[in-house]
Amino acid sequence: MRIAITTAPVHLDKTSTVCTHPAPGTKPCPGTSGYRASCSACTWRRTGRTQISLADVASTHLATHLTAPVPS
Ligand SMILES: [Zn+2]
Ligand SMILES: [Zn+2]
Repeated sequence: MRIAITTAPVHLDKTSTVCTHPAPGTKPCPGTSGYRASCSACTWRRTGRTQISLADVASTHLATHLTAPVPS
């Protein structure tokens, strides 16, 4: 199985729900506070202010799977 990190914008609300609006940050979206990265292979999650700030931690996490592959 191919492991991928997916990033999605999250809302300003307390629970940081994932934004599924077609244009994040503009109406009817209430606004986004940042992004959440999630791993397709495990329960790893991280939130960050920008996608760029998440790219580093995402690639670091991905590397842990490459050295210790999860059974597919
Ligand atoms: Zn939204
Ligand atoms: Zn993972």
